Amino acid sequence: ERMISGEQQQVDQDLELSLRPERLSQYIGQDQVKNNLSIFIEAAKMREEPLDHALLYGPPGLGKTTLASIIANEMGVQFRTTAGPAIERAGDLAAILSSLEPGDVLFIDEIHRLPRSVEEVLYPAMEDFCLDIVVGTGPSARSVRLDLPPFTLVGATTRAGLLSAPLRDRFGVHSRLEYYDTKALCSIVERTAEIFSVSIEKDAAVEVARRSRGTPRIANRLLKRVRDIAQVKGETVISKATTQEALRMLQVDAEGLDFIDHKLLMGIMDSFQGGPVGLDTIAATIGEESQTIEDVYEPYLLQIGYIQRTPRGRVVTPKAYAHFNREVPGS
Ligand code: ADP
Repeated sequence: ERMISGEQQQVDQDLELSLRPERLSQYIGQDQVKNNLSIFIEAAKMREEPLDHALLYGPPGLGKTTLASIIANEMGVQFRTTAGPAIERAGDLAAILSSLEPGDVLFIDEIHRLPRSVEEVLYPAMEDFCLDIVVGTGPSARSVRLDLPPFTLVGATTRAGLLSAPLRDRFGVHSRLEYYDTKALCSIVERTAEIFSVSIEKDAAVEVARRSRGTPRIANRLLKRVRDIAQVKGETVISKATTQEALRMLQVDAEGLDFIDHKLLMGIMDSFQGGPVGLDTIAATIGEESQTIEDVYEPYLLQIGYIQRTPRGRVVTPKAYAHFNREVPGS
């Protein structure tokens, strides 16, 4: 994970739980997704049926898990969570499914990482609320159908394209989460500060928001470190100057890019004259996994126009060269 050690990660996970909004009305930004969901939720409640299965996709830290737990709260049902890599065998999933109560929300994070054999158990479960189980072996083997309580599956993934078509098609609701704008992130920072019982100047909150790569998880983490530094300095209201000092210490630059973004951009500029260069080649050069680059680092750099995807590979843009005060090669 960016910027953090294992021990720090546990602290951050606990922090995340405490910061999670509980109702749709407390969920900041993502207006389109929120509006659609609130209608679907209301309609499902009127029909006294579970909500349709929903697929949430977008880069890490944008609030997919939070939204899934809000769906459960709004529907007034239990929230059960698991993750694709945690379910190794079809039987594991069958056990989870048969323990659900009617209407429950089952959240599967990283659903694209479910093994194929497990995925196949999901199809009849999602479509007809039943499990097909094979009993016995050899010639005496037969298939038994077990009924399941109706439930809502909420799947999360970084990209919808990572899912197999049959799985994707079984979700009635597809919601894509977008990077947050500074205004929304600023509200999130202010809300988090309130939960921490710390005061922060408006322009300091804006500074944290601006440098959070459009991501609430990063905004909350940065605020936490900024708070530590303000505390050590004995500052009662977090100022912009302290915020900037803290962000400098965290190696977060003026645009919110961290050392991995730098490594990626510099790698393409230094070793490939700015590109085009293939993803796997970049990955090998900077020692990160292709998948991680594609899901975590690259989307934001594409969004702010620092890199472009071309048929021949990734290209660093003049805007990125300008950010590093460098000349575009051959210009
Ligand atoms: P994901 O599942 O997409 O990786 P999470 O749901 O775990 O992201 O969100 C990361 C953190 O950001 C959580 O602590 C959550 O409280 C906060 N967060 C995410 N989205 C919002 C939002 N819209 N409003 C307020 N806080 C949010």
